[in-house]
Amino acid sequence: MISIRQLSKKYISGKQDFYALDGVDLEIADGDFVAITGKSGSGKSTLLNILGTLDVPSSGSVLVDGTDLFQQSSKQIASYRNKTVGFVFQAFYLEPSFTVFENVELPLILAGKVGDNASRVNSALELVGLSRKSRDKARTLSGGEQQRVAIARAIVNDPKYILADEPCGNLDSANSENIMNLLCQLHDSGKTIVMVTHDAEDAARARRIVTMSDGKIVGDVCADEKVG
Ligand code: ADP
Ligand code: MG
Repeated sequence: MISIRQLSKKYISGKQDFYALDGVDLEIADGDFVAITGKSGSGKSTLLNILGTLDVPSSGSVLVDGTDLFQQSSKQIASYRNKTVGFVFQAFYLEPSFTVFENVELPLILAGKVGDNASRVNSALELVGLSRKSRDKARTLSGGEQQRVAIARAIVNDPKYILADEPCGNLDSANSENIMNLLCQLHDSGKTIVMVTHDAEDAARARRIVTMSDGKIVGDVCADEKVG
């Protein structure tokens, strides 16, 4: 369970302070699939990056199963980032000159895993349907394939949380559908998913939709309330 309490992120701009996040309170239950929507600049990526410890808050806290993320040592924070969280970004961020296999293996190496990495990598690639591309260089793949590799990389460590920032933002509708199906499949298998999107159709695939505006949460609905 993630509990976000009075989370703020402040930037100094000119004479005035600017709040990218302004007192956000949010609870995310284990196994949930939460879409975060809202206009560009509303703070969605800032919130997701803080959840993944890619950014730090100015004030407030993020409790993960009761532990305050940012009160931990940098070593503990790095371990959380490597083992508990899997990231998927709009721009894929693969290592273009590495093979598909090497890209997916990277988090295992960063987490210091030794032993049977190959079987973990192969089963992640199988899940996203790209076993046959394992030895190809990442740069030779299409955008849709690259995002599937990114998903395999995100899950190879068997993380509890998957954080996806506009995962379909660079994809056409057929490839988007593919990625959304994979995220739904991961949710069904028990992963907790937090996905930033400004696509209403993609958001509707989640179980819960949180809407942000000017660094604040202005809406929060669950699937069972959405119908009718
Ligand atoms: P979203 O993902 O909803 O489009 P972001 O979380 O990326 O929004 O950004 C929220 C706001 O914070 C934006 O107005 C953005 O310009 C501002 N912002 C983000 N990063 C910085 C930064 N490093 N310095 C100043 N302002 C920033
Ligand atoms: Mg963003």
